[in-house]
Amino acid sequence: MAKRAPVPDGVREQVAERARDRCEYCRIAEADTFWGCQIDHVISLKHGGTNDIDNLAYACAPCNRAKGSDMKATRS
Ligand SMILES: [Zn+2]
Repeated sequence: MAKRAPVPDGVREQVAERARDRCEYCRIAEADTFWGCQIDHVISLKHGGTNDIDNLAYACAPCNRAKGSDMKATRS
């Protein structure tokens, strides 16, 4: 079962800082999102991606979900 390894806090902060607290896909400000932003793996871990900052993107929930292949289905 592919389990998503947690992204270390320090790395998360680096990504958020790089993204300037905006989704790196649609550029919405995190403050304007309903669910906030999450760290997204550009290349998913199960496809050989890493927790390296270069493989991470700050993504709002809709972008994160639109991209994810088999993430938990959280529908409203
Ligand atoms: Zn977005």
